Amino acid sequence: MNPRNPLNFSGGPAALPESVLHLVQQSIVEVPEVGLSILGISHRTDWFAAVITELENNIRTLLGLSGEYHVLLLQGGATQQFSTVPMTLLRGKHIPAEYLHTGYWSGKAIPEARREGPVRVIWSGERDGFSRLPNDEELPFSADAPYIHYVSNETVEGLQFHRVLGRDDVPRICDMSSDFLSEPCAANKFALIYAHAQKNIGPAGVTVVLIRDSLLEGMPVDLPGFLDYRSHIKAHSNFNTPPVFAIYVVLLVTRWLMYEVGGLSRMAEINRNKAALLYALVDGSNGFYRGRANPADRSLMNVSFNLPTPELERRFLAESLAAGFSGLSGHRAIGGIRASIYNGLTFPAVEKLAGFMEDFLHRMAKTDCLAK
Ligand SMILES: *Cc1c(COP(=O)(O)O)cnc(C)c1O
Repeated sequence: MNPRNPLNFSGGPAALPESVLHLVQQSIVEVPEVGLSILGISHRTDWFAAVITELENNIRTLLGLSGEYHVLLLQGGATQQFSTVPMTLLRGKHIPAEYLHTGYWSGKAIPEARREGPVRVIWSGERDGFSRLPNDEELPFSADAPYIHYVSNETVEGLQFHRVLGRDDVPRICDMSSDFLSEPCAANKFALIYAHAQKNIGPAGVTVVLIRDSLLEGMPVDLPGFLDYRSHIKAHSNFNTPPVFAIYVVLLVTRWLMYEVGGLSRMAEINRNKAALLYALVDGSNGFYRGRANPADRSLMNVSFNLPTPELERRFLAESLAAGFSGLSGHRAIGGIRASIYNGLTFPAVEKLAGFMEDFLHRMAKTDCLAK
């Protein structure tokens, strides 16, 4: 294994567990129980139908999802869901759907919804530079909204809700692309959850959608077949050729979560420890490392921070790259540094990064870079 792989702090597509990578490598040549390359197995085989069924069941088990939900494996990424959700639930409606604007990704969802119907942004963090999330008193949810939409983890800014938002009488819709299956979640409180694979659970190409059956009542009947959730439900996520490879890798990751990690509570404990290590270092650096997010809203997945000057940030990135780390530059929208520590990134890898950050801090302090 390339020694760089375990030190890949990329925001996404992101690092996957090493044991999964070995199984994937083998499957490219030959899936043992089939005797064929995963890249050449028909999506109409019984074997692939069993892959879909097992993956669905694993997701249900990991989340404790009730039988009222459909589990779909779709294409088009989270971005397609920015459109499919309002096409399904907002078209022709007069009462606005309620959206939270908490960062870069929720900001991408809002204009797509406006194409389909009225939208009310009930809170925006734009004035605060998306450095914090709202508390419940700042969120005047209405009882008659067709749905509310929010992003559980703002990947770019490193902000994460550590609670479920909204009201039980209005369908909750959540983009969980960057924290899906990173910890237990009250999935049954949501009407629809979507999450693409490429941050926590696999490669790009497949998006998991969990949808409560009752949400589909009264949805438009004239949507393109491919964009109609019911087509995919009826076809058991095999409506047209699905991304067989990506789906297989997500299956391997869910097996890893269940049988190697030991479930989502254990995964959450590991993820909390990783994040705590980095945030403690940021907080103990006397202002050298400057966390972007309000401490109460800090993401366990994306640790975003700045250094005192852009020059020091460039140096940090260059030296971290030379030291074997990868993917640490902040999102192109905001710059700075971002350490993404998704499920596949191990605690020892985070310890190595913490060691590098400490060493960098001490060296820069000595060379007096902090004088300015
Ligand atoms: C990365 C990301 C997206 C973008 O997803 P695509 O699959 O590229 O469309 C959307 N939402 C969140 C929260 C993300 O982290």
